[in-house]
Amino acid sequence: LSRQAVQRAREAFLSGRTRPLEFRLQQLHALQKMIAEKETEIATALKQDINRYDTPLLELIGIENEIKLAVEKLGEWAAPRPAEKNLLTISDEVYIQPEPLGVVLIVGAWNYPWGLTLMPLVGAIAAGNAAVVKPSELSECSSLLLRALLPRYLDKDLYPVVTGSVSETQELLRLRFDHIVFTGSSTVAKLVMEAAARHLTPVTLELGGKSPCYIDKNCNIRVACRRITWGKFINCGQTCIAPDYILCEPCIQGRVVECIRQTLLFYGADPKCSPDYGRIINQRHFNRIMGLMEGYTPVVGGQSDSSQRYIAPTVLKDVPPHSRLMQEEIFGPVLPIVTVSDMDNAITFINEREKPLALYIFCSDKKAIKKMIAETTSGGVTVNDVMMHYTLNSLPFGGVGQSGMGRYHGKHTFDQLSHHRACMVRSLGMESVNLARYPPQNRQRARR
Ligand code: NAD
Repeated sequence: LSRQAVQRAREAFLSGRTRPLEFRLQQLHALQKMIAEKETEIATALKQDINRYDTPLLELIGIENEIKLAVEKLGEWAAPRPAEKNLLTISDEVYIQPEPLGVVLIVGAWNYPWGLTLMPLVGAIAAGNAAVVKPSELSECSSLLLRALLPRYLDKDLYPVVTGSVSETQELLRLRFDHIVFTGSSTVAKLVMEAAARHLTPVTLELGGKSPCYIDKNCNIRVACRRITWGKFINCGQTCIAPDYILCEPCIQGRVVECIRQTLLFYGADPKCSPDYGRIINQRHFNRIMGLMEGYTPVVGGQSDSSQRYIAPTVLKDVPPHSRLMQEEIFGPVLPIVTVSDMDNAITFINEREKPLALYIFCSDKKAIKKMIAETTSGGVTVNDVMMHYTLNSLPFGGVGQSGMGRYHGKHTFDQLSHHRACMVRSLGMESVNLARYPPQNRQRARR
């Protein structure tokens, strides 16, 4: 079945109908219409998948902004880009022409099932590609709804949705694509890259990891903790760029814990009853996260209810740097605090580990901020807030090292899913300039 879908997408691409910009704009408008008209259905699906009410804020606004930007800028993005010339090419036409790659495979994760499939799709459409969309089987209601909706609004052959679990994804991966955009874990990413290598297909890998959050002792800890608490516990901690753990000096650890406890009251007296607090996606992840907490006495939270896959917002202090909790991505509502002696020690701590997807620095000293940025690396960095670099589509979003490769959002998606063709158009005149390059070369002169 997926083989046929890919075949149809390829044929539709080869028909050339994605080439005119009017066609791409029309498809982008149709996608916008789908989101506007089906917002309630999408919200219901997300509620069933992951108990989330705050859909518009989290996912749909981001997708709509991507569409708006692509519609507004498509003419500019798709136009030939002039390139510098030298003396030998001064009278030539020299430019870079972005052109579609062909058929793109988009494999999404379950934590933001709409954003992680449709944001890459916006760029794929804008760049004139066909795209096969494979949402995660774990967010089943969203996946089925996406499969039902997309063909009702978009070209049926160019943008098929393939649902299913691991075996279906593996079947897809055996086929040939012109680019793969994968969002998920580093473990599965290795399988994706291996499969892609067989066809020499380029990949964009949007992965995760442990994103550190450093709090300097001289900053406004109350505001810092409010922002961190929001970003950590939104979607029940299941966000790729959520702060994974806090680094701070021992002297402020107690105050950090208190400020987080205070902030958590925004969920009411019991987060379990709050309509704003989510649930863990499935039992396997619930058990995994509970397992990570074993042996600790939480200073905040710690309660759980397996029947609802509920885990309370939880904070653990004085977590040993080499504990299991500090080895794998938590991807749940558990926030460990690891103490460091100072900022330099925090920098060393970060650099000794895999390159993170995001780094968060809370600090009021401009020089210290620049120093920390300069002496570390990460996919992206936000200072004095969390996750906000993700929301600005002029910034490339992506990882480095184990947190991924390639980048997207806004024009970056268009560029990632385009071939940048080097074009040089010369004339047949001025042949005298070329005489020197034809044989016989200077050899004769040398012999003489
Ligand atoms: P995952 O790697 O388990 O699954 C991702 C996708 O791969 C799913 O569509 C799934 O069907 C497919 N898949 C799973 N096992 C497979 C296999 N053996 N062969 C082929 N395909 C397979 O990841 P997940 O649990 O859906 O998502 C969580 C991870 O994703 C976390 O690490 C998180 O940080 C990361 N993530 C990253 C971003 C980002 O933008 N960088 C966004 C969200 C999530």
